Amino acid sequence: MFNLKPLPFELNALEPFISAKTMEFHYGKHHQAYVDNLNKLILDTDLAKLTLEEIIVKTKNNLEQAAIFNNAAQVYNHDIFWQSLSANPIDREISDQVLLLIKESFSSLDNFYDQFKNIGLSQFGSGWVWLVKGDKGLEIIKTANADNPIAHGLKPLLAIDVWEHSYYLDYQNKRADFLDSCLKNLINWKFVESNIS
Ligand code: MN
Repeated sequence: MFNLKPLPFELNALEPFISAKTMEFHYGKHHQAYVDNLNKLILDTDLAKLTLEEIIVKTKNNLEQAAIFNNAAQVYNHDIFWQSLSANPIDREISDQVLLLIKESFSSLDNFYDQFKNIGLSQFGSGWVWLVKGDKGLEIIKTANADNPIAHGLKPLLAIDVWEHSYYLDYQNKRADFLDSCLKNLINWKFVESNIS
């Protein structure tokens, strides 16, 4: 049995950039539903003994297990997403070490923000934008629907959800404004740092 992980902040902590109303639906309804669906799907199966990460890797590319993969990956993706966001100034501070790695891969922090935003905008339909650690260093990738980096052997450092349910109440159809808002006001650089090492 999986449980919905507690949010690392209060429902209204990300206002005005992400409203408590959005969090009530996104965390309380959507994320909860993925947890509930996953539990129903794996009940009394061998998968019930595995970790979330193991279920994701085991069910990827298997059409018969697509529903299990989708729900497991969405539980995992949202866990990463909530940790990727913070309005706390201590979390928001980027260390010299992380800034150096960002500059090595993207030349500047502004360029990183631009690329992350553009890749997020280029995701057609529902999906995710990620900062990942791969063989070539840091990279920004997008994935469709529930797909995620661990299904491709990559380590996620940061995630932003670009499904419409992520921004529709606060930004309507303006995904660019939502991405700008998250990137400039809510990135939890301490979380990125904890994943890099
Ligand atoms: Mn979502």
